[in-house]
Amino acid sequence: MTTEKIFENEQDFIEQYREACMTKYGSKFEECSSQEQFYVLAELIASKARAIQTSSHTKEEKKVYYFSLEFLLGPLLDNYLINFGIRDLVAKGVESMGANLEEICRQEVDPGLGNGGLGRLAACFLDSMAHEGIAGYGNGMRYRYGLFRQYIEGGRQVERTDNWLANGFPWETRKDGSSVLVRFGGQVVRHEENGHFWFTQEGGEIVRAVPYDVPIVGFGGKVVNKLRLWSAEPYTEDFDLDAFNAGDYARANKFRSDVEAISTILYPNDAGEHGRMLRLKQEYLFVSAGLQTILRTYEREFGQDWANLGKRVSIHTNDTHPAMCGPELMRILVDEKGVGFDEAYQICKETISFTNHTVMPEALEKWPINTFRNLLPRLYMFIDEIDRRYRDNLATHLSPNDGNWTSVLEKTAILWDGQVRMANLSIIFSHSINGVSALHTQILKDTVFHEFYEMMPHRFNNKTNGVTHRRFLCEANPSYSKLITEAIGDGWLDDAMELEKLVPFEQDASFLEGMEVAKKADKERLAAYVKQTSGVVLDTNTVFDVQVKRFHAYKRQLLNVFKVLDIYNRLITDSSYNPRPTSFIFSGKAAQSYTFAKEVIRLINSVADVINNDERVNDKIKVAFVPNFAVSNAQLIYSAAEISEQISVAGAEASGTSNMKLMMNAAITLGTLDGANIEISELVGPDNIKIFGLHADEVDALRASGRYYAWDMYNSDRDHLGRIVDMLTDGTLARLSGNFDSIHDYLMVDNDPDLVMRDFHSYVQAWSELTEFYGDRAAWNKSALHNTAKAGYFSSDRTIREYMADIWHI
Ligand SMILES: *Cc1c(COP(=O)(O)O)cnc(C)c1O
Repeated sequence: MTTEKIFENEQDFIEQYREACMTKYGSKFEECSSQEQFYVLAELIASKARAIQTSSHTKEEKKVYYFSLEFLLGPLLDNYLINFGIRDLVAKGVESMGANLEEICRQEVDPGLGNGGLGRLAACFLDSMAHEGIAGYGNGMRYRYGLFRQYIEGGRQVERTDNWLANGFPWETRKDGSSVLVRFGGQVVRHEENGHFWFTQEGGEIVRAVPYDVPIVGFGGKVVNKLRLWSAEPYTEDFDLDAFNAGDYARANKFRSDVEAISTILYPNDAGEHGRMLRLKQEYLFVSAGLQTILRTYEREFGQDWANLGKRVSIHTNDTHPAMCGPELMRILVDEKGVGFDEAYQICKETISFTNHTVMPEALEKWPINTFRNLLPRLYMFIDEIDRRYRDNLATHLSPNDGNWTSVLEKTAILWDGQVRMANLSIIFSHSINGVSALHTQILKDTVFHEFYEMMPHRFNNKTNGVTHRRFLCEANPSYSKLITEAIGDGWLDDAMELEKLVPFEQDASFLEGMEVAKKADKERLAAYVKQTSGVVLDTNTVFDVQVKRFHAYKRQLLNVFKVLDIYNRLITDSSYNPRPTSFIFSGKAAQSYTFAKEVIRLINSVADVINNDERVNDKIKVAFVPNFAVSNAQLIYSAAEISEQISVAGAEASGTSNMKLMMNAAITLGTLDGANIEISELVGPDNIKIFGLHADEVDALRASGRYYAWDMYNSDRDHLGRIVDMLTDGTLARLSGNFDSIHDYLMVDNDPDLVMRDFHSYVQAWSELTEFYGDRAAWNKSALHNTAKAGYFSSDRTIREYMADIWHI
C-alpha cells in the first residue's frame, strides 16, 4: 500500500506541529496543555485532509450523497492518523517532543451527532466509501447538543446536557458562501399566463441553512471525501433593539433562538419522539438544504441536463428521516428548473434509494396531514398529487371492486387516516428498497412491506450491514492487530477478507497463546477504565461477558440480568454450584422518555450493588455498568470482550452491528437467531457460536396462538425463574433505590411481551455450556480466532461494494 506523503519525515512533522502551536496559541508546544496540543494536531491533520479533498474526484465520477439525520462519528484523530498511514511517525515525533500521543488523542470528545446503530452505520459507510475511492458524501445535521451525557446516580440514569461543541470541533469548516435558504409555512400562490400556470410560495418563515464540512479520510490517504452538516440560523439579523433597550433580553433574542432551535437537539431515534414539530423542521431543513447545494453543483458541472441526474448522482436515504427527498427534489425540478411533472418523478425515482431499519410496524414514522401541510404547503401538494396518481395507477392493476383493493391501499398509500406515512413515501419515490440483514429483508418482503413487494419485487434487495474493521479492530485493539499483522501482513486493513489467512493459525499454539496475552492486556485496559468510571473493580482472570448497546425492551437486557440473578441465587443456595467466574459488563443509554428501559438500567445497577457487595459471591461474579456509552468507550469494551451478548427476541433486531464488531475482536457470540446473528452463525459454523431461544417463526406462531402465559412460566419454575420475579418486588434489590414494580408488571400483567421468561431456561443453559467451554483455553482461543478469521464479510467495505454494484450502479 502506498500512502500520500503528509509529512516528509518525523522532523518535518515536528517542525510543522511546533509552528502550528505558535500560530494558534502563541505558545511553544511544551507550554500547551494536552487539550491545546490535541486541537492543534487535529487542525493540522484536518488542513492536510482538506488539501487532498479538493483533488480527490473528477466531475465525471458518479456522486453518492448519503442522507442521514445521524452520523455517530466517534473521535477522529487516531483514525485519520491510521488512514493516512502516519500513526507511528506521529507517535514517535510526539514522544521525542516529550509528550504522549495516546494522551493527546484522549482529549478528543465524541461528537454528539448520533444515537446508536443507525448513526454508526452511516459513519462506517463514510469510511468505506472513501476507502473504495468513490465520490461519496454525507449529508446531515449539526446538532448544537448531542443526546445527553449519561450519569448513574443512586442506580438511576441521570441525563445532563452534552455540550460537545463547548471547545469547538476542530475538524469542521464553516462554509458561509454555500449557505442556502429554506422556507417554512406561508402560502402557495398560483400564477397563470397564456395557458401556462405555475406556483410560488409566499410568506412564511425563511431560515438560513449554513453548512459545516468535515473531511472524511479514506484508508491510504488518497481519497478524502466530506460530510456536510447543516446548522439553522436566522435569515436576517432580526434583532429587536427596542426590546433589548427596554431590558427585555429574552424577547430581543427570541427570533434567533426559535430558528436556532431547529439544529439544537438530537432526538432519540427509538422512543416515539415522532410527531414533534421541531423534528419535522430538522428533516426538511437538511433535505432541502442538501438538495439545493447538490443541484447547484450539478448545474455548474452539467448545465440543465436534468434527464441524466440519476446517472450522475445517487441520493441514498438512511431510514425515513430523509423521506422528503422525493417530493423536495420534485419541487425544485418542477418549480425552479421548469421540468415537467412526469419527467421529474422519473428522475426522482432513478436518483433516490432507501434503506429501512426497523421491522416494528408501530415504529414507522408518520405525520398528521394538517401539521405537515401547514409547515410545508407546496411540498404537500406534490405528495398529494403523487399519492393520487399512485391510487389511480393501482386501480388499473386491481379493480376497485376487488376486495383486495382497499386492503392494498390501506397498507401502501402515502396519505391514510389523516397521516403522511413516511415509509410509503420513501418507497414510492425510490428505485431500490433494502433491509439490513437477510432475515430483516425477508420480514420486510413477507410482512411489513408485503403489498409493495408483490407489486414491485425488483425494487427490494438485501444489504447486510457491515462495520469498518479499521476503526473497530485495528484502532480499537492495537495489541491484537499487531499480532494479526505479524502473522498475515497488513493487507487485511485494505481487504478484510484477508483475515481468512488466520485460519491456519488456529492450529498454532504459540499464536493462540499470543492471542490470550493480547486479550488479557485489553481486559486490563478496560478494567482500569471501569474502575475509574464506575468504581467497580474487575478481576481480569474472570470471563468478560459484555452487552453494550441502546437499552430497549426488544434487546432484552432484562433477560441478561435475570441470568445474572439466577447465578447469584444458585451461588447462595447451592454450595456445590460452581459457575465459571465472570464479570458481567453492561453499557448503554435509554431514551430520556423511555421509562421501562430506564427502569432496566436501575435494575442492573441495583443488582450490581447487591452482588458486588456480597462477599459470598465476589470471587465468582461481579456486575459493572459503564456510564455514557459512546464510540470512544465502545472501542475499549469491544476489544476486551470474550462473550458477546446478542439476545434480542427473534424477529426484532434488524441487523445489529455490535455483534460484528465483537466477533472481529474474537468474542464468541451468545445469541438468538435474529438479525445478522444468523449470518454470523452460518459463517463461523455451529461450533463457534452459541445459539439459544425461539426462532423468529416460533415467536410469531406463539404470539399468534394467544397461548403464551407468563404465569405458566412462573409457576413451572418457582425455585429459579419464579424466585427472580419475586425479587423484583420483595425488597431484596431495593436498598439503592426501591423495588421494581413496573418491571414486575411488564412481565406478569402485560404478559411478558418480549418473551424473556420463555427464553430464560435455554439462555441460562447456553450460558453455562459456553462458559464451561471457556475452561478449555486452547479450544476457546481457536474458536475465538475463527470468529476473527471469518469477520471479513462484515467489513462495511463489502457492504458498500454491494450498494455500489446493485443500487448506485457505480
Ligand atoms: C455499534 C454501536 C452501536 C450498535 O450496537 P447494536 O448492538 O448493534 O445495537 C450502538 N452504539 C455504539 C456507540 C456503537 O458503536
